[in-house]
Amino acid sequence: MEEKSINIKMKVYRYDELSEQDRRLVDEARQATKRSYSPYSKFRVGAAILMDNGEIVTGANQENAAYPSGTCAERSACFYAHARYPEAKFRTIAIAARDTSGHFTSVPTAPCGACRQSLLEYETLAGAPVRVILYGEETCYVLPSVASLLPLCFANFD
Ligand SMILES: [Zn+2]
Repeated sequence: MEEKSINIKMKVYRYDELSEQDRRLVDEARQATKRSYSPYSKFRVGAAILMDNGEIVTGANQENAAYPSGTCAERSACFYAHARYPEAKFRTIAIAARDTSGHFTSVPTAPCGACRQSLLEYETLAGAPVRVILYGEETCYVLPSVASLLPLCFANFD
């Protein structure tokens, strides 16, 4: 028997310590929370993806009375981004969320497992790491890749 461990590296910043470009992407994600349709959870999430063509594509969670029919902000953004710019590669994604009182969360909100898997597909397509910025009012986490959020991931290795 052999025991192994998997570590992920991330950087922790305050919002004002982020680069101007990262702050801009976070701002887009924060704005996107206003376009969330979340009458059931009242948890408004926004995501913004910076593409290699310079475009920023945003998404917000969209809920449905039949709960599984809705989707998260991250998948809303990544599916639209690839549908809109199929040739462009993802560079960075920023994610922000407001709690049920409407305030931005003080700690970062991380993508659910399904979103991590979906984002990983676009990271694989990009052929390069897609940075992930998780926004919180008090702290922001910056991860070097989607894969770092999904150790032992299932991927197409063709
Ligand atoms: Zn999700």
